Amino acid sequence: MATLDSKIPQGKLADKWTNHKSHINLVSPANKRLIDVIVVGTGLAGASASATLAELGYNVKTFCFQDSPRRAHSIAAQGGINAAKNYQGDGDSTYRLFYDTIKGGDYRSRESNVHRLAEVSTNIIDQCVAQGVPFARDYGGLLDNRSFGGVLVSRTFYAKGQTGQQLLLGAYSAMNRQIGRGKIKMYNRHEMMDLVLVDGKARGIITRNLVDGKIERHGAHAVVIASGGYGNVFFLSTNAMGSNVSAGWKIHKKGAHFANPCFTQIHPTCIPVSGEHQSKLTLMSESLRNDGRIWVPKNIEDVKAIREGKLKPTEIAEEDRDYYLERRYPAFGNLVPRDVASRAAKERCDEGYGVNKTGEAVYLDFASAITRYGKEQAHVKGLDENDAALVKKLGQDVVRSKYGNLFQMYEKIVDQDPYETPMMIFPAVHYTMGGVWVDYNLMTSIPGCYAIGEANFSDHGANRLGASALMQGLADGYFVLPYTIGDYLADDIRTGTINTDSPEFEAAEKAVKDQIDAFINNKGSNTVDYYHRKLGKIMWNKCGMSRNATDLKEAMAEIKALREDFYKNVNVPGTAYEFNEQLAKAGRVADFLELGELFAKDALERTESCGGHFREESQTPEGEALRDDENFTFVSAWEYKGEPADAVLCKEELNYEEIEVKTRSYK
Ligand SMILES: Cc1cc2nc3c(=O)[nH]c(=O)nc-3n(C[C@H](O)[C@H](O)[C@H](O)COP(=O)(O)OP(=O)(O)OC[C@H]3O[C@@H](n4cnc5c(N)ncnc54)[C@H](O)[C@@H]3O)c2cc1C
Repeated sequence: MATLDSKIPQGKLADKWTNHKSHINLVSPANKRLIDVIVVGTGLAGASASATLAELGYNVKTFCFQDSPRRAHSIAAQGGINAAKNYQGDGDSTYRLFYDTIKGGDYRSRESNVHRLAEVSTNIIDQCVAQGVPFARDYGGLLDNRSFGGVLVSRTFYAKGQTGQQLLLGAYSAMNRQIGRGKIKMYNRHEMMDLVLVDGKARGIITRNLVDGKIERHGAHAVVIASGGYGNVFFLSTNAMGSNVSAGWKIHKKGAHFANPCFTQIHPTCIPVSGEHQSKLTLMSESLRNDGRIWVPKNIEDVKAIREGKLKPTEIAEEDRDYYLERRYPAFGNLVPRDVASRAAKERCDEGYGVNKTGEAVYLDFASAITRYGKEQAHVKGLDENDAALVKKLGQDVVRSKYGNLFQMYEKIVDQDPYETPMMIFPAVHYTMGGVWVDYNLMTSIPGCYAIGEANFSDHGANRLGASALMQGLADGYFVLPYTIGDYLADDIRTGTINTDSPEFEAAEKAVKDQIDAFINNKGSNTVDYYHRKLGKIMWNKCGMSRNATDLKEAMAEIKALREDFYKNVNVPGTAYEFNEQLAKAGRVADFLELGELFAKDALERTESCGGHFREESQTPEGEALRDDENFTFVSAWEYKGEPADAVLCKEELNYEEIEVKTRSYK
């Protein structure tokens, strides 16, 4: 087992980061004009990085597979973005955000990076406000906050349930300005197919134009991967349908270590699966847990009656309801972190208390909040607090103003009115903490190749706290990468334009074309989705919310067999030189079929439970996750060696100097 000789300033906190040697090497404004940077991705991470790099003076080429950068998956982010502004005066601070994030990640993230993240979090809000992002404001006009899971302060900035959309519009506007100036060349509908290395350094990419199928070469002095997360390896997830691992996986195959692939976040509040026909799951934002109370009936007879349609949840008396999060975790209640809330829902459903037909749903109920807000409003307005109908109406108005679009979305999908009856929710795959391994400067183990946003593994350890992904993506894009990249690029000011006629580009392009031809000529009998769906089932059943050695070994063998069958029997209709969604998808599923196996291998090796990774063999008598700090306080960074099963584990040991490592408790 290898150990990473780390370029990482372990234990050095971020308030020292500006003095770190990475900032000694800078590129002058004049020399930046001589340097080209490729950015793959226009989600919040990629768009913010592209805009900032261009603003600094670099020549940027940005790629996305959608028809517009605005359609990146980031647009779906609902609930908010964290920052340690302490606007509520509730005791927040940089240290507290740093502490909450390390604890929330179950002590499996790097101290130095997380402190830097907490430190720059406040700048993000200022930056976005300056761009015109319409964050929610309170009565007096100041920026408002709400709470998210795993913390005891209110530090989440939000724009209704559309925070990602508004933030992306801000970053996209900044990008557009640079596109207008000619500093960013935007390539929509272009998919990165491979990375090109010259003399061991990242020097460009091969792309496929998704409209006409043309394969193109693009050179640059550095390549930044901002391609998002890989939750869709499970087929069903809350991610956008196009989210995939391919850019990250291609660079892994070229030498970038892939870290903690098994660290996946299963979000507790999603609309339950309704049947086999589905290809997408829908998140109900965690912000709803500010006011919604989670429960199942106490009595199994009530559960049966509900499932048979003989009883409504609103008919169950208060004393017959089990508010199991409030019961088990009195300190944090309904705002425990996602991994804890998801496991608790699974535990109740496994015991037979699930409230929908398949027994895989619990209630998220706003009745108490509606009454509480309604009474307050009646009091404020001098109206009758004992008029139940009036109180209900006033309370519903408040809830509508806070979560209206989320309630509307729920009603459209489920055809039930959540103002009148509790929502039904169940955990679903949502976010991947694992990803491409990066050092403190966000460089992968390939010189000149960087990874930012959800695509990298950094900052969230084994469990991400709500509203922290947008924070990390924008920290990476606006405030970290554009400055750390100079350390590497300072050596490139005399390199000149990268020649794409070199044998390295030739070979990479040929490999891409060969794979495309193989898919088109295969003429098998199964669709791409047939394989994706099967892979998803294996992942969910054997590598999902809880894992054990037997299942994980079976998963590895099953995924390998499925992959072999895929290459023999997949059918990709159409031709290579046209708009061909099935062809694009085939390449992405091929990569998922490799990642899935490494994912299971990583989960098998990590015999402890931590964060979202729950090994059944490692739990307390109360069923809580049991960490093994003595043997597993490290990042698993996997080195590619051909077959996923042959990947070599490199360990990056984690040292905690500023935070005391404790058992994580939300009781
Ligand atoms: C429903 C939902 C709600 C969420 N709500 C919140 C929230 O409230 N707060 C929070 O902090 N987080 C939230 N998250 C998480 C957060 O949205 C994501 O982690 C974050 O937006 C990821 O941003 P990104 O820039 O890294 O990637 P993405 O937004 O996924 O962007 C990826 C980009 O890469 C491009 N790309 C990918 N592969 C290729 C390729 N091969 N070639 C070319 N381009 C490629 C895509 O075109 C896209 O532009 C939510 C997630 C979901 C699923």
